[in-house]
Amino acid sequence: MTARLIDGRAIAAEFRSELAIRVARLRDAGVVPGLAVVIVGEDPASKVYVHQKSLACEAIGMRSLVHALDAATTQAQLIAFVRTLNADPSIHGVLVQMPLPRHIDARAVIEAVAPEKDVDGFHYDNIGALVAGVSAFYPCTPLGVLKMLEHEGIAVEGAHAVVVGRSTIVGKPMALLLLNAGATTTICHSKTRDLAGMTRQADILVSATGKPGMITGAMVKPGAVVIDVGISRLPGGGLAGDVDMESVRPVASRVTPVPGGVGPMTIAMLLGNAVQAAERSAGFGTDRETRIA
Ligand code: NDP
Repeated sequence: MTARLIDGRAIAAEFRSELAIRVARLRDAGVVPGLAVVIVGEDPASKVYVHQKSLACEAIGMRSLVHALDAATTQAQLIAFVRTLNADPSIHGVLVQMPLPRHIDARAVIEAVAPEKDVDGFHYDNIGALVAGVSAFYPCTPLGVLKMLEHEGIAVEGAHAVVVGRSTIVGKPMALLLLNAGATTTICHSKTRDLAGMTRQADILVSATGKPGMITGAMVKPGAVVIDVGISRLPGGGLAGDVDMESVRPVASRVTPVPGGVGPMTIAMLLGNAVQAAERSAGFGTDRETRIA
């Protein structure tokens, strides 16, 4: 067996085309969906991500506003700025690019974003809704993984899903989305005993550790679907996922590549959340796109 690669770029492109139609419908009704992205300081990687998000917005007809604030911006100033965006009816989604400078408490800033504009899905109101299994803005990377599985016709209900990683932005919401979709779900982390024994039970294995090559073929059940969320920059340049492709491909049935797997889905889901926020504010949206439970 050689696992088939799941083409995240192609699936994300399909989602974006569907979103462009929804944006056109909104524009016909006089609403131009607007996403405000706030970046504080000069982190080069953050600047690249913000630029990518901005281009992706414009490509589907949305308005993107990037606000670059000085690294010396205080927490109070940043929160006050976020509140002006909350109050601006032409802005439907507000995203504060992480990481923030050390003198700013990121959680305080996230909580300042209006939950109905929190297109990252990081606000406690949206996390709570995810736990409760009701419609909300869900974090983009885990939502992208779920949409990929749906797109590929992979049955989640009844499957045993094992998630490696328990961060607030990827591992935990991933496990909750899979649980809400009917999977029996196990979460593993750095303190897990017998990690390979756990991962070998997975019908669907999602790895989000940022440890290049740590998931080997010996850790995978024959025929399993393996989703690689990890992205690590290698010292010599280039990107690596968590999955050791050489040993995993002969064992798994499907696997996502890095790059070109989960990454493109993340941005597509961000756009989807922003479009949904605009539809809700215009009073004619549906929650269908992110309703899981
Ligand atoms: P974190 O560093 O916050 O979390 C990593 C998790 O992996 C932790 O829960 C940690 O366990 C666990 N872990 C680390 N080493 C091991 C190990 N040897 N065995 C088992 N578990 C381990 O990272 P993030 O969740 O923010 O991101 C994870 C990866 O996903 C990164 O590579 C990141 O770049 C990538 N990413 C990709 C995105 C995309 O669009 N494709 C978007 C967001 C992130 P513990 O909690 O015990 O420390």
